[in-house]
Amino acid sequence: MKITEVRIYGNRYPVAFVEVFTDEGITGIGATGTQCNLISPVISDAGLDRIVIGENPCEPRRLWTKMFIEWQALRGRGAEGGLAVNAMAAIDMALWDITGKVLDLPLYKMLGGETKKQVMAYASSSAFKTVKGESFLKSLDEIIDECRKSVDMGFKAIKYGWGNRFGEMDENIIASMRECVGKDVRLMFDFGCPAYWTSGWNVKSAIRAARILEKYDVYFLEEPFIPCDTKSHKALKENTSINIASGESLTTIYEFMRFIEESAVDIIQPDACQIGITKFFEVACLAEKAGILCIPHSPWSALAVGTHLNILATVRNGEMIEYPAFHALSSEVHNKYYHLTNHRIVQHPPLLKDGFLHLSSLPGLGLGQFDHEILDNLYSYDEI
Ligand SMILES: [Mg+2]
Repeated sequence: MKITEVRIYGNRYPVAFVEVFTDEGITGIGATGTQCNLISPVISDAGLDRIVIGENPCEPRRLWTKMFIEWQALRGRGAEGGLAVNAMAAIDMALWDITGKVLDLPLYKMLGGETKKQVMAYASSSAFKTVKGESFLKSLDEIIDECRKSVDMGFKAIKYGWGNRFGEMDENIIASMRECVGKDVRLMFDFGCPAYWTSGWNVKSAIRAARILEKYDVYFLEEPFIPCDTKSHKALKENTSINIASGESLTTIYEFMRFIEESAVDIIQPDACQIGITKFFEVACLAEKAGILCIPHSPWSALAVGTHLNILATVRNGEMIEYPAFHALSSEVHNKYYHLTNHRIVQHPPLLKDGFLHLSSLPGLGLGQFDHEILDNLYSYDEI
């Protein structure tokens, strides 16, 4: 069997989808967390596709190395990561999908077999909403209503993208959230770029925020600093009882190794759409040995959720999976977009029941094929 073509979908859409074709009619599906107009030049124009066309698709690990080495040669430099790895990730995902379809095995069997049949999903939301293109903070009532709906839907964990606002009013909202969800539901907060882009934000600011959040038994704090800043993550981790999580923006195993070997986080958050299945599995196994939990970043599509479910089922440290809370997003357009990419874009989206994602026995990623009618008619990025 030989790879004949790599096709990219998405136009100016926030996420690019990839389909790998073979001469025997079996196709594999993949996704990257980067938009098409940035990924397409790497795959089609610069020739990443030519590195795999003609190769046996059922050797994804070998082809990852081939892509990584030959892309470096193509660029004439030894730099690592970034967009090139994002593009490789989508192809790698599709190659594992093809391999599973050829062998009639789900990904979790190819990775050595499952240690569990289901993995907890957490409802992922944001404290911000978009109205007519402008970003606003949601009100207390809006956030509490969303939290109540998440619990009613069966979620046992909820995360909010929050930034670094921890004044009295914000603390009142967090206190009300805890009261609303009760003591048994996990609450998490993502500092993210609104925090680390703020001038003056440093380790001491983050420790002060953590002291507030400790009162409400928060389960983890996400990406409190610039993604590669290992030292600041470690300093915060050593000064709070809350788990510190990071990793969604990292693209090479070497960056992950720094965080894992230096024990700079309690939770590592790789994303297979950023680093591929081949490297995600390595990260998860390294973290497992180091006693670090693995809770991936996967808000974008069924391909991320389904892939992560397969991998997390095989490792002991696969604790939870990020899952978009459609009822609690920032706008109607976002709700529609996330619904399409999580429920409609593939034949068999991952099964969510009572707050847990359940393994499928279908081969490869377990998602079947793309629904091309949905894929081809996704509205443009400009409308979001
Ligand atoms: Mg995040």
